[in-house]
Amino acid sequence: MSEKIIVSKFGGTSMGDAARMVGSAEVAIKQKAKVVVVSATSGTTNDLIELAITSEKSSWINAQTILTKIKIRHLKIARDLDMSPDKIDSLNQLFEELESMSRGVHLLKDCSLKALDSIQSIGERLSSILFTEAMNIVLEKHKSESKAQWLDVREVLLTDNQFSKARPLLSEIKAQCLERLGALRHNDQIFITQGFIGKTKDGMTTTLGRGGSDYSAAILAEAVGADILEIWTDVPGIATTDPRICKDARAISEISFKEASELATFGAKILHPATLLPAIRSHIPVFVGSSFNPEQGGTWVKKDVEQAPLVRAMALRKKQSLVTLSTPEMLYSHGFLYQIFKIFNDHKVSIDAITTSEISVSFTLDDSTLLIKELIFDLEKIAEVQIEEQLALVSLIGNNINHTSGLAHKIFQTIPDINVRMICLGASKHNFCFLVAEDSGADVINRLHDVFIGNV
Ligand code: ADP
Ligand code: ASP
Ligand code: MG
Repeated sequence: MSEKIIVSKFGGTSMGDAARMVGSAEVAIKQKAKVVVVSATSGTTNDLIELAITSEKSSWINAQTILTKIKIRHLKIARDLDMSPDKIDSLNQLFEELESMSRGVHLLKDCSLKALDSIQSIGERLSSILFTEAMNIVLEKHKSESKAQWLDVREVLLTDNQFSKARPLLSEIKAQCLERLGALRHNDQIFITQGFIGKTKDGMTTTLGRGGSDYSAAILAEAVGADILEIWTDVPGIATTDPRICKDARAISEISFKEASELATFGAKILHPATLLPAIRSHIPVFVGSSFNPEQGGTWVKKDVEQAPLVRAMALRKKQSLVTLSTPEMLYSHGFLYQIFKIFNDHKVSIDAITTSEISVSFTLDDSTLLIKELIFDLEKIAEVQIEEQLALVSLIGNNINHTSGLAHKIFQTIPDINVRMICLGASKHNFCFLVAEDSGADVINRLHDVFIGNV
């Protein structure tokens, strides 16, 4: 028996309750997934972060209220799946671990990123135990000979020690996958494992950053030499823009790796921005579909696609700040950009959109990055720093964007009343982006969608 290796990832909404888990298990089994990567149940990662913050900053009673909420949610799913007491015990052990960690944070009044990662890891560890049960229920129903086996992903997904945004160590992961998962093509085990979390070489739990389960699945797909990576979520594929923002958004049947990468990087929550890197490196086609309605089809993300429209999709990235550095010393001198990039490199922060003039440089940052006070402090040492907050980055993603005359005219003609703070065009064939006030972002997307994509 030699089968295709399919790695499937199911997001939080696909893990919402027992019925959703069974529905998602049906999809995984129908698709013949060999490795299934799951997120925490919907809302749980947010609750775990709130628990960590409350434990650090508030009363223990308040922390216990959140702990109880998390317990009740998971025990209800266990009951609805009719789980045996010994399996419920493994959930209880995780609740105890969570309580001890939160208590530690509370007593020390200190929640480091390291502690936060361990606390967040409980979400995926709980959901994966429940999902293994759902898988075995469905396999039994179909009288399948396959068996779902729970795997602690931390045995294989090794990372560096940048807590909260750890980077995977690919060659180590490949070696561990080979040793732990064996010849996937030739056996009928299905591994159920956690997205989002990993472990350092010295055994500390890490996370890959919010929404990181997509990335985990892609890394595992690369490590096991998968033929296909499937991302199952709550919408039937990648749409022309976020359907929550624009009612005319419609699913795209095919999109190139390059376009989808730009879309993810510039704010489309449907994929974690790093997801496509392993897929591109290892030529793994990616399918995105709805676990709620798998029959509706979805989007294929691949290297070569049939059509290359000028504007394929649009993204809105909220909570952006525009940071402008100005200094007359930049005039006729060299090395200023080097100094800026060096400071960003020292703080391990990446710059997204950037423009320069003779004596100033402007770039966008996520609002949360402004919390890295040392970064701003270091920038202030070399220039005057001006910060504008509550902005949103609007991106048009497609093909040949930097070589098409009249595009900018058509865009800005559509939004003559909108104050545009910064424009980035030229560096990418696939992207045209600009900054607007955050509260006009959705309106701008809707108007541009109407003109460039329409509602056919
Ligand atoms: P999951 O929990 O499955 O990872 P996410 O909430 O992270 O799901 O991502 C799915 C959501 O991404 C959709 O519900 C949708 O609102 C949002 N989204 C943003 N941009 C797009 C887009 N271009 N196409 C489809 N969905 C998008
Ligand atoms: N559970 C994590 C989060 O909510 C990871 C993920 O869902 O992809 O960010
Ligand atoms: Mg997600």
